[in-house]
Amino acid sequence: LAELVEARTTELSTANRRLEELSRSDPLTGLANRRHFDELKDIEFRRALRLGHPLSVLMCDLDCFKLYNDTYGHALGDQCLQAVATTLSRVFARAGELVARIGGEEFAVLLPGADVLAARTAAEWLRQELAVLAIDHSSSPVAAYVTLSIGIAQFEPETMDHFDLLMLRADQALYRAKHLGRDRVAV
Ligand code: GH3
Ligand code: MG
Ligand code: MG
Repeated sequence: LAELVEARTTELSTANRRLEELSRSDPLTGLANRRHFDELKDIEFRRALRLGHPLSVLMCDLDCFKLYNDTYGHALGDQCLQAVATTLSRVFARAGELVARIGGEEFAVLLPGADVLAARTAAEWLRQELAVLAIDHSSSPVAAYVTLSIGIAQFEPETMDHFDLLMLRADQALYRAKHLGRDRVAV
């Protein structure tokens, strides 16, 4: 009986770990989901505050993605999201860096230790990698391939008393990147 109980216990804890994993990740891309991002952002925010280290956040949104779905269909749209997610994971693979899918075609990247200059360099690298990947987007008015717009904000302890303010700034920068013509980085 003891052996049986032990085997059952192991089984249960494996199942529990799997469930925990699922509750933190986005099923389509395998990236962290918004919930996991929210947990980690608060931890990183407090750490940056405590240590006086820089912290930047990137908000990325695919350009004209509705048009992509309309042109190629939802299934290819899903594949495109997966390919973009893979590229994001490759570009932001350093320890501590976190990529999350926080909305349908929106991704957030948390960059502990990065100031706005480092974040901008990384964001431009991401744009470059998407140009190399070159997923056809024939109906896009922006480029012949799938692009995204990126908003960056750096944490400022003097003016930001909450992480949400940092997210808001990154969102505003993203909005500006869109407004200025898309396929670009705004700070
Ligand atoms: P913009 O350049 O201003 O961002 O334009 P947009 O078309 O990308 O933005 P909009 O918000 O109008 O459309 C987002 C589209 O993303 C619409 C929705 O169908 C698509 N989308 C969201 N989630 C998914 C998904 O999981 N799979 C697929 N295939 N499409 C998705
Ligand atoms: Mg969007
Ligand atoms: Mg979009």
